Amino acid sequence: MTETSTRMDVLGLFPAGTQLAADGVLTIGGCRLDDIAAEYGTPTMIVAESALRQRARDYLREFRSRWPRSDVAFASKSFPCTAIQRVMAQEGLHLDVAGGGEIVSAVAAGADPARMVLHGNAKTDEEIQMAVDSGIGLVVVDNFDDIDRLERLVPRGHNQACLVRVIPGVAATTHTSVATGHVGSKFGLLPGDARRAISRIERSAVLHCAGVHTHVGSQLLSAGELAAAVAPIAALGTFEVYDLGGGLGVRYTYAEHPPSLAEYAEAMVEQAHELLPGDSRIIVEPGRSMGAASACTLYRVTTVKRGPVTHVAVDGGMGDNLEVSLYGQRFEATIADRVGGGREVSLVGRHCESGDELISSVPLQDPRVGDLVAVPVTGAYCYTMSNQYNGARRIPVVFTADGVARLVVRRDTWADLLSRDV
Ligand SMILES: *Cc1c(COP(=O)(O)O)cnc(C)c1O
Repeated sequence: MTETSTRMDVLGLFPAGTQLAADGVLTIGGCRLDDIAAEYGTPTMIVAESALRQRARDYLREFRSRWPRSDVAFASKSFPCTAIQRVMAQEGLHLDVAGGGEIVSAVAAGADPARMVLHGNAKTDEEIQMAVDSGIGLVVVDNFDDIDRLERLVPRGHNQACLVRVIPGVAATTHTSVATGHVGSKFGLLPGDARRAISRIERSAVLHCAGVHTHVGSQLLSAGELAAAVAPIAALGTFEVYDLGGGLGVRYTYAEHPPSLAEYAEAMVEQAHELLPGDSRIIVEPGRSMGAASACTLYRVTTVKRGPVTHVAVDGGMGDNLEVSLYGQRFEATIADRVGGGREVSLVGRHCESGDELISSVPLQDPRVGDLVAVPVTGAYCYTMSNQYNGARRIPVVFTADGVARLVVRRDTWADLLSRDV
C-alpha cells in the first residue's frame, strides 16, 4: 500500500492539463475545484473535455496508423450520458449500445444509428425492434434466440448486418465479475455453436453475417491477454468485420502500469496482421480506457473521526462509485488544496454499510471538515451505476475546458426522489 504520495504522483492520475493554482488549489480544464464546488455543489463528477476528446483522437490514430480499416466504438455503458456519447460521435467514433436505454441516449446525442453496435445477452423483442426501427448498423448475435427474434422482426426486403459473439476461451486476469471470455461465460457462443449461428444467419433472407465479435473482459493489464482475443475469432473463417472488443485496463493507482495505447494497438494489430484477412475491417470497443482518466469526483468532507483508524467521511460514496464495492477497485485521492503527502486514513462514504469505504488507506494531508477531496479516474462505470441508495441524489456531471465549466447532467432534486411514486 502507498504510504505517502508526492504532488507529481497525484497530478499524474488526473486528466492531462490538471494544474495547481498559485494558492495550491487543483484546477482541471482550467477550472478551480473550489469554484466548481461553489457553483455546482458536491459530490460532482468533473470531466476534462479536452482530455476526453484527445483520448478519442489518440485511439483512432493509434489503430488507423497501423490498420487503416479500423473503427473505434465507444462502449456507451461505461458512461452513458448524451454529452459523452455526443463527444464520441463528434470525434468520429462509433458507439456500442447495450440495450434500449443506451439506444435512446445515443440517438438523443445525435449519433448516427448506422454507426452503432448493439450488444446484450438478453435482448428483448422490444430492444430488437428499436434497433431495427432506428437502423442500427451492427447487431451482435449472442445466442440462437437473438436469431429467432431478428428473423421475426426484421421486415422482408431489409438486410440486417450481424456479428456473432464468440467465447474466446481466454481466462483473463481480472475480477471475476468483469471477465467474459472464459468457457462458461454467459456471453456469446462457443466456437462450434458460433459456426452453427453463422450458417443460420447466412441462410436467412433478412440477415447478413458481417463478421465475428469477442470481448475478453475489463481492466486487463496485459496486452498479451487482450491480443489473445484475435486467434479464436480468426479461426472461424473469412469475414468483412472482426470486432475485438474492449478491455484495456487503466491506471487507477500510483503502483499500476497498464499497457499504453500504442502498446495495446501494436499487440492487437500484430495479431491481426498475422491472422486476419488484410482487407478486413477491425473494430475495438474501449469503455474504461476511453473515459476513466478524463474525470474525477469531487466530494466535501463532512466528518473526521479519530480513533484506531481515522475515518474521513465525505458526502458521497457507493451512491456514486460502486467500482469499489463491486470489484474491489482501488482508487487514490487528494485534498483539493493540499495535494500530496499526509498520513493514511480511511476515506468513507455516507451510506449505511461498512462496505461503503471509498479507499481503505489513502494518504491525505491534514484532512478537516469542509475540505474538498478529489478522487481521480472515475470516468468509467461510476456515473452509469450511480443510484439513490439511502435517498442519495444522483450526482451531476460538469465538463471543464479552457477555464469554462458547464453542467451537462444536473443533480437529482429532492423531488426527483419522489417522482416515480404513484
Ligand atoms: C463492457 C464491454 C466493452 C468495454 O469494456 P471496457 O473494459 O470498458 O473497455 C466492450 N465490448 C463489450 C461487448 C462490452 O460488454
